[in-house]
Amino acid sequence: MRFTFWEDFLALVFPSTCAVCKRSLYAFEDQICRFCEMKLPIADYHLMPFENDLSQKIKGLAKVGRVMAFLRFAKKGSSQKLLHQLKYKNRPNLGIMLGKRYGRLLLENGFGSEWDYIIPVPLHPHKLRRRGYNQSFCFAQGIGEVLGVEVVQGISRKVDTSTQTKKSRLQRWINVDNVFEVKQQELFSGKRLLLVDDVLTTGATLASCATCLEESQPTSVDLAVIAAGN
Ligand SMILES: [Zn+2]
Repeated sequence: MRFTFWEDFLALVFPSTCAVCKRSLYAFEDQICRFCEMKLPIADYHLMPFENDLSQKIKGLAKVGRVMAFLRFAKKGSSQKLLHQLKYKNRPNLGIMLGKRYGRLLLENGFGSEWDYIIPVPLHPHKLRRRGYNQSFCFAQGIGEVLGVEVVQGISRKVDTSTQTKKSRLQRWINVDNVFEVKQQELFSGKRLLLVDDVLTTGATLASCATCLEESQPTSVDLAVIAAGN
C-alpha cells in the first residue's frame, strides 16, 4: 500500500474516523478501526443459505433461492451504527468496504462462481439526489469487485415509497408491490442473479424486486443484505 504526500496531508487535516467508534483511523485502516473490525457481528447465513429465519420471511412473498445477510442487526449495535453512517453521513466508501469484506467471506466459503450478475435494489431518484449515492449499489460494487461479477443497475423504481415506515406489513406489501420494473429483461434471462440491499426487515422490498426479476426468467434469484435480524 502506498500513500502520496497529498493523501497523508489530507488525512492529517481531515482525519477519517471509524464508522463505529469514531476514533481517528490509521492509514492502513479502511472505514473502521481494526478493533471494531474484529468485533463485527458477522452472521452465518452463508452456512445455511436456503433455510434460515430470513428465507422464511421471504419465501411466502417471492420465489427466491439463497437468502443471506453479512451482519446480524442489533439496535444500538455496531451494525446499526454502520448502516446509519452509510445512509446519512456521506460515506459511500463504507458501503464498498463492507461489500469487499462480504465478498471475501463468500469467496472463502465457496461462492466464487455462483452468480452472473449482482443487482442492487434501486433508490428512489429523489433520495439518490439528496444522498448522492445508492448505498446498496456501493455494497454491490464491493462484492462484485472481489467475486469478479458485473454489477448491473437493472431495476428502477416507479413511485416514491418513502412514507412506508409507519405502515403495517400488509400495507407495506401493497405499497411496494408494482413499484419496480426491470429495464433489461433479456439480459437476465437464464442468468443466476444476486439481488442486494442494505437491510432486510419485513422483506417486502426485496420480495417485490425479486418478483419483478422473475419476469425475466432468470435461472435463480438469491438475496444478500448488509444486515438483518433483530
Ligand atoms: Zn472503531
